[in-house]
Amino acid sequence: MSLAERLARPEVLALAPFDLGPRHGDPFGAETIKLDANENPFPPLGAPGVNRYPEPQPAGLRAAMAALYGVAPEQFLVTRGGDDAIDLLCRTFLRPGEDAVAVCVPTFSAYAHFARLQGARVIEARLEHDFAFNAEGVLAAVQRETNLKLLFVCSPNNPTGTPVDPVDVLRVAEALPDTLVVLDEAYLEFGTAPSLVAEVTQRENLIVLKTLSKAFGLAGARIGGLVGPAELIAMVGRAAPPYPLPTLCIDAAVAALSPARRAVHEERIAQIVAERERLAPLLATSPMVKRVHPSAGNFLFLEVEDAAALAERLQRLCIRVRFRDNAAPGGVRLTVGTRQENDAALRAFEVPAPALPRSRRAEVVRDTRETKIAVAVDLDRAEPRRIDTGLPFFDHMLDQVAAHGGFSLVLSCEGDHQIDAHHSVEDCAIALGSALGQALGERRGIGRFGFALPMDETEAQVLIDLSGRPFSRFDGEFAASHVGAYPTEMTPHVFRSLADSLRAAIHVRVQGENDHHKVEACFKAFGRALRPALAIEGRGDALPSTKGVL
Ligand SMILES: *Cc1c(COP(=O)(O)O)cnc(C)c1O
Repeated sequence: MSLAERLARPEVLALAPFDLGPRHGDPFGAETIKLDANENPFPPLGAPGVNRYPEPQPAGLRAAMAALYGVAPEQFLVTRGGDDAIDLLCRTFLRPGEDAVAVCVPTFSAYAHFARLQGARVIEARLEHDFAFNAEGVLAAVQRETNLKLLFVCSPNNPTGTPVDPVDVLRVAEALPDTLVVLDEAYLEFGTAPSLVAEVTQRENLIVLKTLSKAFGLAGARIGGLVGPAELIAMVGRAAPPYPLPTLCIDAAVAALSPARRAVHEERIAQIVAERERLAPLLATSPMVKRVHPSAGNFLFLEVEDAAALAERLQRLCIRVRFRDNAAPGGVRLTVGTRQENDAALRAFEVPAPALPRSRRAEVVRDTRETKIAVAVDLDRAEPRRIDTGLPFFDHMLDQVAAHGGFSLVLSCEGDHQIDAHHSVEDCAIALGSALGQALGERRGIGRFGFALPMDETEAQVLIDLSGRPFSRFDGEFAASHVGAYPTEMTPHVFRSLADSLRAAIHVRVQGENDHHKVEACFKAFGRALRPALAIEGRGDALPSTKGVL
C-alpha cells in the first residue's frame, strides 16, 4: 500500500478516482456537438467559451505550471489558490476527532484554520528566538503523536519572513516517515534558498505548495497548486470539486506564464527585492520601530513601540498593514509595494523619504497570433537591459537604443521566426514605442526634442520630437538584404512603427558603406536622440509646449 493510501481518509479512498489526466482519446474532437452537460449554447456576450464547463484539471495550465517548477504533470495538481490546496490536504487526510496536524508558530493561519474545520487537532511547535526553525525542537514537540498526518512548514515564513534551511525540512521529513511534510513555498521567488521540488521525486512524504498569487501577481485569479509524488497528487485530486477553476482564471494564468513574459516577471521580482533591501535599514531608523527582521519574502516583519498609536496613524494616512501581535508583541507585517508606495510608508513611520514624482515605468504586453511580446521600460533607471527578440542582431540594436537612451529595457518576444523576422521586428518596435509612450504619461517636464550625429565612416542623423503626433521620415538605402537574420529593409519600418506607437516625429538619415554599421548607427543615434528628449528638465512638471498639451 502506498503512503497516500495508508494516510487517506476511508471516505476519500472509497470515492471513485477522478480522471485528472488530459482528455486523451476523446473520440469526438473539436467539432463535437455538445449536448451532454446541460450547458447553455450561447456564450456570455464578450466572453467566448465561458458557456462551457472548464476542464476539471486544465491540461494546458497543469503542464505550464509543472514545467515552471520542473516536475512532470502527474506530480502537479492545480488548485484554486494555495489556500484551496491546504483545504484539500486537510479534507483528504484528516479524520475528525482522530488525526492531528503540526504547525510551526508563528505562521500562516490557514493551516490551523482548515485543519480545525476538518475536526483535527492542531499541535503547535514554537519557532526559536528570532523565528529560527529548529528541526530537533519541532520533532520533540510532535514525538508523542501517533496520528500526525500533516506537518506544515512555511519557507520563507509568513509573517516573519524567515527562510527555513532545506536541510532541516528534509531532516524532519526523514524522521517522520508516516507524516506528510507540506513545505509552503508561497514566497520562495523573493529569497535565495533553493526550492525543494526536486526532492519530491526522491521521497514519499514531501509535498510542496505553490501559488501564482505572490510572485506572479495573480492573487485575484486564485491559482496555486501542489507538487508531490503522483499517487499522492491523484489522491488529493479526489477531494477536489468537479470544476474548481474558472475558465477566465485558467486563461489569465496561462497567459501570465507565457515564456515571453518571464523576463518582465523576473525584473518585477528583482525590483521588489531591491525595495525590500532599501526599506529594511531605513525602517530600522524609525522612532516607532524597535526591530526589523530580515526577510526573504515580499514583506517585512517589524516590532513596533506602540502598535495602537501606529494603527491610528496609518489609518489616518490611508495605509493598510497587517498587525500580527500573536507573532511578536507589536508585530507588524508590511508588504513591499511600489517605490512610491514604500516612500509613503516610510514617511508614515517618520523616516524622511522624498516625495518622488510619478514613476516613469511602464509595461506593455502584446499578444497576437504572430508574436507574443512583453516589455517593461523605466525612464528613470539605466538598468537592467535584457532583450530577447529571437534575433540576436536586433537584440543588439534595441540594446543600443536603451543604452544610449539611458533607460531600462526588458523585452522578450516569442515570434513566428519560422516564417521570417518581419512580424517580430515590427511588433517589438510597436510594443517598445507604446511602452515608452505610456511611461511618458502626460509628457510633463520632458526635454521633448533630441538629435544626434556621426559614427565612423557612416553618418546617421536622428531628429526626434516627442510631440504626441506621429510622423516618420527615413532617408537611406541598404545594399545587403540581411545582417544576420535581421532584414535591413525592416529598418525604416521599425522607425515608422516607433513613431506611430510613441506618437513622435522621427527623422532618420543615414549614409555610409557598411550596412551593419549603417543599421547600427541608426539605432545608436536614435538612442542618443531619445536621451535628452526623455529627460526631465528643470522643475520637471511643465509641459514643454506653448499649447499646454502634448
Ligand atoms: C499567500 C499565501 C499562500 C497562498 O495564497 P493563495 O492566494 O491562496 O494562493 C499560501 N501560503 C502562504 C504562507 C501565504 O502567505
